[in-house]
Amino acid sequence: ATEVRLAQRPTGYPDDSTWEIATREVPDPDDGQIVVQVEYISIDPAMRGWLNDVRSYVPPVKIGAVMRAFGAGTVVSSQHPDFTEGDKVTGLFGVRDFALSSGKGVEKVEADAVSLPTHLGALGMPGMTAYFGLFEIGRPEPTDTVLVSAAAGAVGSVVVQLAKARGCRVIGVAGGPEKCVWLRELGCDEVIDHREGNLTKQVRAAAPDGVNVYFDNVGGDMLDAALANLAVGARIVICGAISAYNAEQLPEGPRRYMSLLVFRASMSGFVVTDYEARYLEAVTEIMRMISDGSLQARETVRTGGVAAFPEALLDIYRGTNTGKLVLKV
Ligand code: NDP
Repeated sequence: ATEVRLAQRPTGYPDDSTWEIATREVPDPDDGQIVVQVEYISIDPAMRGWLNDVRSYVPPVKIGAVMRAFGAGTVVSSQHPDFTEGDKVTGLFGVRDFALSSGKGVEKVEADAVSLPTHLGALGMPGMTAYFGLFEIGRPEPTDTVLVSAAAGAVGSVVVQLAKARGCRVIGVAGGPEKCVWLRELGCDEVIDHREGNLTKQVRAAAPDGVNVYFDNVGGDMLDAALANLAVGARIVICGAISAYNAEQLPEGPRRYMSLLVFRASMSGFVVTDYEARYLEAVTEIMRMISDGSLQARETVRTGGVAAFPEALLDIYRGTNTGKLVLKV
């Protein structure tokens, strides 16, 4: 079996010195345990944050430990009453091909109608993030204009489609013409290619009456551009700030936060796991939309196995993914 361990905490972007790729025996389950053959590893922007030795919503990955990661795969041996060989499951299995688990936090999933990568994307943690971030923090009304950054990504693409289903006018921001074409297909009324620059002007042109909900996955200049274009009573959902995850120094700003005063707006952070008790509600709704064709779940599947993890992680910061990025084991 192969696994990726944290060798050293990076400053800036992770590199080869960050990781150790190790081999070990395939484990055997004890009483109450299962062994999962991991087929797909979820690549998440937050992984960079898990490498920092700081206080956060989860403890940092320890030096020498297997890198934390969500995954999907098949139970290959079980000494656990709730699991049998052949069960398709998702869970926090780590960056490895065989995981020993107590079954805690492991979900059995139905993998005939929807693929395992979709269970890591639209039906997994990113889909939950989109649903609860949008509806609980963004609280869009059908007449609202909703701006979404990293809109062609795992979380963003679900936010776009949920907001369209609610009847909102939706502006999607992504990097590059191909992603922008896909955003139109998803129903975006306006699209912004952030590589073309002039973000504040582009947002103003797309939302002349201001933005009621900004779903922020990016932070930095994009957040400032949104702050410069708010409608009265706007809600900003602080979902993530990927533009700063690899920065060696804290970013400046947000420079335009006084817009919150002028437009009586609010900006709230949230962590998806706070809504764990309600995941079934979101899974049911997103599954219904996938089934009736009103929601496209898309994934970018990267090959190369466990050893390709260091490069796959950098891919998410390069923006090579459309939809959810997963690594095929
Ligand atoms: P995505 O699938 O959206 O992938 C990340 C995308 O971000 C890239 O494809 C790229 O898209 C864009 N991007 C990368 N680097 C930059 C940069 N420097 N500036 C601007 N854009 C950049 O990832 P996820 O959907 O998994 O996550 C989206 C956000 O949600 C992240 O910030 C993540 O941390 C956050 N998140 C928060 C959770 C919570 O509980 N609060 C839970 C899960 C995720 P493009 O090419 O279009 O620029």
